[in-house]
Amino acid sequence: MAPGKVYLVGAGPGDPELLTLKAKRLLEEADVVLYDRLLSPKILEGLDAELVDVGKAAGDHKMSQDEINRLLVQKAREGSIVVRLKGGDPYVFGRGGEEAIELRRGGIPFEVVPGVTSAISAPSLAGIPVTHRGLSTAVTIVTGHEEAGKERPLNWEALARLGGTLVVLMGLSRLEQNISQLVAGGLSKDTPAAVVEKGGWPDQRLVAGTLADIAGLVREREVVSPAILVVGDVVGLHRELSPVRLAFFRPENLLSETSIIVESMGFTPIPAPSISPEPLPLPDDIARRIDGADCIVFTSPNGVEILLECDDAAARQEMAALLASRRVAAIGPRTARALQDRGIEVSFIPEEYSSAGLVDLLGGRCEKVLLLRSIEGSQELPAGLGAAGMDVDEIPLYRIVGSGDPRLDRLIANSAAVDVFAFTSGSTGRFLIERARELGLEEHLRRSLGRARVAAIGPPTAAELKRLEIRVDLIPESYTFPHLLEAVRDAIWGSK
Ligand code: SAH
Repeated sequence: MAPGKVYLVGAGPGDPELLTLKAKRLLEEADVVLYDRLLSPKILEGLDAELVDVGKAAGDHKMSQDEINRLLVQKAREGSIVVRLKGGDPYVFGRGGEEAIELRRGGIPFEVVPGVTSAISAPSLAGIPVTHRGLSTAVTIVTGHEEAGKERPLNWEALARLGGTLVVLMGLSRLEQNISQLVAGGLSKDTPAAVVEKGGWPDQRLVAGTLADIAGLVREREVVSPAILVVGDVVGLHRELSPVRLAFFRPENLLSETSIIVESMGFTPIPAPSISPEPLPLPDDIARRIDGADCIVFTSPNGVEILLECDDAAARQEMAALLASRRVAAIGPRTARALQDRGIEVSFIPEEYSSAGLVDLLGGRCEKVLLLRSIEGSQELPAGLGAAGMDVDEIPLYRIVGSGDPRLDRLIANSAAVDVFAFTSGSTGRFLIERARELGLEEHLRRSLGRARVAAIGPPTAAELKRLEIRVDLIPESYTFPHLLEAVRDAIWGSK
């Protein structure tokens, strides 16, 4: 039988979008993929191939390099297209060279597909260019975990004298020893140093300091592998260049749209839904009550969706027709769009997207107002409308419950890596704290909230956060999510 072929493929640092086009194509075409434990699981999602985890095959026993080499040769001899997937670049501390030599000696056709190495990309993704005019004109990449008794051990004293940027892979276990050898070699203790943990992964973290304190910081923050140590003056650039990670807690249906806005404004989005709307049974007389009002008020896209997205198409149409016969008010542009998308004309949107704005706008224009909103809606709106002389009826459409979303749990555990917390309602904050408490991580989360910037979409949200003892740094002038992001952007980078 004609032998198959082995591709030694670099997978990049972990973000699937940092695979090369060739790597992606080969993964789709492969019969067998051999990978190591470090690979982010997202890269392997949806593949047709036989997947072999050589990092922990057969029980808990890690396959030896010899066993991996034999398996590669065997699979290729069976005629398979084999992708040997390796983190970063296959030939940078990945033992890819050894596997390639073995294949060549075994007469197996093979090809190397370079990847984005973590040695350069993990620092980049954390805001550290490994070279920078005026700061560093050289990069040295070394391993921090050398086997003892090597014939030609790394000369750390010489590295200390070399200048430029030093990047240390596999550097966590011998961090203290390596640093003291650099200092013994003459590198000042004040030299900037940083560790990038899980570069390019959703929970990437940067810990920055100097040679004097970096080891202590790394232990204190419990940094885990994979992580990279960067030493040199370029480290300081992270203060200007590191990505700003912005967490938001909107319900699932708004997430992808929100992520796109967050990214387009220059932030790294961390979606972590903390709430989800749970529909309530509608009262039998809802049609009569809509008919009896001259203005219908919606205060969120959730309400619109819940009312107009029931399974029964005829009932849905009837409801849309009924609403279209009234004058409809929306608290803000997103709620208005949810209505317009379903063919309902919106007569009123206040200038200020708040309860107070609605009261001002509807006063003198409506007599009988029907509120269709969450059961937790504040009394401010009905009381204000009543005081302005309107008759107010109200039908609760949904209740807000905790989301139970695993992304929220991950965010809470990794909250130390968040730069900005953006709250779009009081309930998003309430359920975040509640979930942290359930996980036993409330103190941890509160410390992270204390270190980060906290933005609230409007005054009622800010008031609820304050009640939860969360300090609020920012409220936009106009109460929409894009304005909230603009306010954060101005606070961090200054307005242009
Ligand atoms: N071939 C790989 C390196 C393999 S050695 C490459 O080119 O990137 C494994 C070491 O790489 C880890 O101990 C860690 O130091 C580093 N590493 C790999 N992926 C990383 C990531 N996403 N973030 C930080 N360091 C990473």
